[in-house]
Amino acid sequence: MSLDINKIRADFPILNQKIYGKDYIYLDNGATTQKPQQVIDVVSHFYQHSNSNIHRGVHYLSEQATLAYEGVRKKIQTFIHAEHEHEIIFTKGTTDSINLVAFSFGERYVKEGDEVIISAMEHHSNIVPWQMLCERKNAKLKVIPFDKSGELELDKIDALFTKKTRILAITHISNSMGTINPIKEIIRKAHQANVPVLIDGAQSIQHLKIDVQDLDCDFFAFSGHKIYAETGIGVLYAKEKYLNEMPPYQGGGDMVDKVSFEKTTYLGAPFKFEAGTPNYVGAISLGSAIDYLLEIGLENIAEYESELLKYATEKLLAIEELTIYGTAKKKSAIISFLIKNIHHYDTGMILDKMGIAVRTGTHCTQPVMDVLCVTGTVRASFAFYNTKNDVDKLVEGVLRVKKMFD
Ligand code: PMP
Repeated sequence: MSLDINKIRADFPILNQKIYGKDYIYLDNGATTQKPQQVIDVVSHFYQHSNSNIHRGVHYLSEQATLAYEGVRKKIQTFIHAEHEHEIIFTKGTTDSINLVAFSFGERYVKEGDEVIISAMEHHSNIVPWQMLCERKNAKLKVIPFDKSGELELDKIDALFTKKTRILAITHISNSMGTINPIKEIIRKAHQANVPVLIDGAQSIQHLKIDVQDLDCDFFAFSGHKIYAETGIGVLYAKEKYLNEMPPYQGGGDMVDKVSFEKTTYLGAPFKFEAGTPNYVGAISLGSAIDYLLEIGLENIAEYESELLKYATEKLLAIEELTIYGTAKKKSAIISFLIKNIHHYDTGMILDKMGIAVRTGTHCTQPVMDVLCVTGTVRASFAFYNTKNDVDKLVEGVLRVKKMFD
């Protein structure tokens, strides 16, 4: 089935405006996605008619808000096929989810001399929390390298596992190169070595069907704002057995059973990990974004985006002296590139003046840039509301930049 792009684009009001008097071409979806009117309407309706703090009141709207919030937890359980509803923890986003695991899992399972494995293509969010843990515990961080095409060197993974390895944290899709990592195979290898795995799903949840039981991952983190919902809401999926063992990450209201100055006891998961008033409106927007996506169909989205990636890759590669960074066999619709020796900021700024929004810089993956021997790249990242016309406009813009510097 092909997507009805005109209908889809009409759902995203932000796309239908002029920037500097030009049609707006939004190609920074890796950073955040735009919101369909349906999600905006749900949030607006909630504030107009239903707002009340959850889990606290016996009054009507509080109960309705609680039901709506808990309903989204159930929806996410189904969406990623988790075994239990209480394995879904609401967080602020991917970064918050990873920090929760690095702290709480770290407190419970990591001690001096232990090891944590990540990869060389991680976002800073999946590097720094582990580094902080390693510093706290005097543990060691080990890194899986990737090759020139941006594919992980899988043959090197086995040698990294030792009896001291406590966790492997790895991204599903590289946000700077687009590589789709073979996470199912990596998880299998890790489990053979008795090592649990955290998947950073910030760039995959909006593009691929996720089944956490089929993957058998132990933790899966994602952000609402990258899947067409609001900012400030995210999810941590974690297997029940870890949630039962891990201590709370933060203390406060809503996560406690009994509080006294002598001793406080905690609720079980998920509430143990959701201290304070959560972003319940964000959660409701996430539920609405998932409904929207399911209506279009994740398979249809994946098929459409991979067509777009193929088209954009061919068009960009046809430009002389343009290099694409990240040429893995399996890629998501993310293209990092440079035009000969033109600085990425210059390219990005000129494209901006043409109404084209791309990302420039290191994309929070400085170690990736070190391996690629560049100071940064220009990144075009696509969503299902982008079109071949957007790609043509990008190509036109790139040719113009090139001409300006010739
Ligand atoms: N991991 C990856 C792969 C990402 O692309 C991002 C966002 N750029 C993050 C983690 C962090 O996500 P957030 O800022 O929403 O917490």
